[in-house]
Amino acid sequence: MTTNRLPNYINGRWQNSTAKEFADVINPATGETLAQVPLDGERDVAEAVESAAAAFPEWRRTPPQDRIQYLFKLKQLLEDHEEELARLITTENGKTLVEARAEIRRAIENVEVACGIPTLMQGYNLEDVAKGVDEMMIRQPLGVVAAITPFNFPIMVPFWFIPYGIACGNTFIVKPSEKVPLAMRRVFELFEQLSLPPGVLSLVNGAKPAVDALLDHPTVRAISFVGSTPVAKYIYARSATNGKRAQCQGGAKNHVVVLPDADMETTTRIVSDSAFGCAGQRCLAVSVAITVGDARNTFRDAIAESAGALNVGYGLDEASQMGPVITRESKTRIEELIGRGKSEGASVLLDGRGAKVTNHEQGNFIKPTVLENVPPGGELSKTEIFGPVLSLVHADTVDEALDILSQSLYGNAASIFTQSGAAARKFRYEVEAGNVGINIGVAAPMAYFPFSGWKDSFLGVMHSQGRDAVEFYTEKKVIIERWQSQWSRKF
Ligand code: NAD
Repeated sequence: MTTNRLPNYINGRWQNSTAKEFADVINPATGETLAQVPLDGERDVAEAVESAAAAFPEWRRTPPQDRIQYLFKLKQLLEDHEEELARLITTENGKTLVEARAEIRRAIENVEVACGIPTLMQGYNLEDVAKGVDEMMIRQPLGVVAAITPFNFPIMVPFWFIPYGIACGNTFIVKPSEKVPLAMRRVFELFEQLSLPPGVLSLVNGAKPAVDALLDHPTVRAISFVGSTPVAKYIYARSATNGKRAQCQGGAKNHVVVLPDADMETTTRIVSDSAFGCAGQRCLAVSVAITVGDARNTFRDAIAESAGALNVGYGLDEASQMGPVITRESKTRIEELIGRGKSEGASVLLDGRGAKVTNHEQGNFIKPTVLENVPPGGELSKTEIFGPVLSLVHADTVDEALDILSQSLYGNAASIFTQSGAAARKFRYEVEAGNVGINIGVAAPMAYFPFSGWKDSFLGVMHSQGRDAVEFYTEKKVIIERWQSQWSRKF
């Protein structure tokens, strides 16, 4: 099938990819082939960069308040197409419609925040740093910038970057995940309706060859990346070698600490949603629950019951509470990891392997899985599973729980459930993670706060979203000026 090959959007128009290799885009719930996505495409990257570079001088001269008028229109377009976009996300990614709609709300929120650029981008100044000498700092856009994004949030993650990048006056190239390229294709059809100058926003489909072409192109000034940690490290290193600034968000292994005084009903509901929502394929999903003291038994029984009651199915069926994982390979990998946990000594309280969903036998379904007594030093407790698997670990004290947590290589998110302010403060103060939840299961920062991963979950300085995004997409220029009064003509 060659008819449904996805095009690129370069220089303000759709054009066929020059790629020689293509892969199928597959609906993870049905196994149906939806389209074909280009895998190479280095020439397309070169063309996109050229058009973005040509568009930059005029775009940076466009006043910020004029640039954000496009974003106001974009917000309305996204609102008007929310349901259609949500269905598209569910079709290619597998998450439920409720989850897909929530993802779009987060994307829109970033557009709204970037509409504040005329204020957010301001610098600062001081008169008389020496007698008659004034000094100011202004922010200027970088030029051509690019984002490389993962499969798990086909629309939200690109929107952690795009609105800020263009509002700051940069021209922007998006390289979406080759597993879920349809959502960005539709979003670019909406971008087309904005009548932005050609070259301000481009879409290039591809896999590693396209990424490498962006990393090596001397005109690309900055790279925003979200994906797995090994790829994040590779992209950060290669960007640095090529003199580019980079922000690279990597993988995760998030912990939640449950104290015996927590409201067990609320805690169970929230942790269950965090661990199994989006089939565990959220970078903020809880992967390990550390029970402290008596919470060991109360939480274990409640979470196993709650997880076992979840309705797993096709995300387009409104009754489904959890969809499939992204690919057949992911399903195999996750099921093998469950087996490894068992061989390391964990007991399987709830086993979701080999799940079948009626009428969707080709889907990559795994049901919620709960493992108990996972050895803290074992392979499973270190590995990012990225699937609907919750490991239970026990600690006698909060200190012990914090110690277990600190051994993780990742630091994307961590949460505590308790009614004790003192325990919550200690946790907030000491925990080595960048997004912290107190009685919150998915500690996802709103768009006006940075998405603050730590340790192997983030390489860089400035995070995505909000003020950090503005810092990342601008360069500071400091001007010191002297105007002596005798130089002025007398008027
Ligand atoms: P991935 O690393 O496989 O792919 C991400 C992007 O990198 C894709 O666009 C892909 O085309 C490209 N890519 C893949 N391999 C590459 C290579 N060898 N060289 C160059 N480019 C390459 O990630 P994924 O499977 O799409 O997404 C899941 C991962 O993303 C998980 O690890 C998850 O934790 C992480 N994630 C992190 C955050 C965060 O905020 N920290 C958010 C979402 C997802």
